[in-house]
Amino acid sequence: MEISDRYHSLNAVVYPWFDGQWQRVLKLFNDQRLPHALLLNGMPGIGKVRLAEAIAGYVMCHQPLNDKACGECRSCQLLNSSGHPDLYFLQPEAPGKAIKVDQVRQLTEFMHNTSQQGGYRVVLLEPAEAMNTSAANALLKTLEEPGRDTLLILITHQLGQVMPTIKSRCQRLDCHLPNSEVAANWLSAELEIDTDAARKLLNIVHGAPIAGLTFKKEGLQALRADFLTALRDLLRQKVTPLEVASQFSKEDIEQLLGWLHGLLADITRILMTQNNDMIRNVDMLKMLSGVAKHTTPEKVFTLSDFVQSECLGLQRRQNPNKQLLLERTLIDWTALVRS
Ligand SMILES: [Zn+2]
Repeated sequence: MEISDRYHSLNAVVYPWFDGQWQRVLKLFNDQRLPHALLLNGMPGIGKVRLAEAIAGYVMCHQPLNDKACGECRSCQLLNSSGHPDLYFLQPEAPGKAIKVDQVRQLTEFMHNTSQQGGYRVVLLEPAEAMNTSAANALLKTLEEPGRDTLLILITHQLGQVMPTIKSRCQRLDCHLPNSEVAANWLSAELEIDTDAARKLLNIVHGAPIAGLTFKKEGLQALRADFLTALRDLLRQKVTPLEVASQFSKEDIEQLLGWLHGLLADITRILMTQNNDMIRNVDMLKMLSGVAKHTTPEKVFTLSDFVQSECLGLQRRQNPNKQLLLERTLIDWTALVRS
């Protein structure tokens, strides 16, 4: 990695639902009991990276004020502009790729240098589960002997995939999904939409507010609409699984499978409760109740398990043929309503 890649200006925000976590870290820091390594754990799309950035900004600030970084000292100025020489940001070289051992070795060198601005040196590493085994092993020594005034903040969206030896050397900070009321109010203010629309949006993104924001800003709404229309057309035999798979093969397959998994959960809800009020994807009610009428729980569970395990495979960076994977899934989707 080029040295310039690791510089990173901060975009620190403590979202209201993380106030408890924030206060806990401040207390540890103010009591001089802050550990050398924190592991921020929680589902994606809830703002953990911003929280990590806020923690970094706070411990590096020379004169924090009212539980916040001052925004004015030399350190805050560096962090808010081009980046700070004592902050190291480590991510995979491309989204979805592994964090490699060479990247961790460079990080270790940084950790053993002395601070350039005479304060804390902070590392943000995200996502922790992207470290392959040799990268994780290379980090272990640093976690054991981190040096004075250093803080490693590891962020994970998949705690189960982080090596136990890494987990056991970090203090865990669990970051929970905000309750639906808080999330809907926040998202409606942020997007200037009514709370009902915000609630619908949250249903699509499993309740994660920042994912809701991204969904809207990156125009994922259109992609979701196209994909859901394709799923409906498949059931009506207007298109074939092969056609749909090649139409969407360049998209984020994990995202598509995530949406499909949400639909399958809704079909299960209808099958189990005989009640349409429980479903999340309310805009697809007609299709979902139609499928529920013509399928069996066994078929839905089997497909649901398959989709989940394939998503896990994608997260583990196994490299399947994405178009084939999608086609296979879509064949099973159409088979839900065939006897
Ligand atoms: Zn400051």
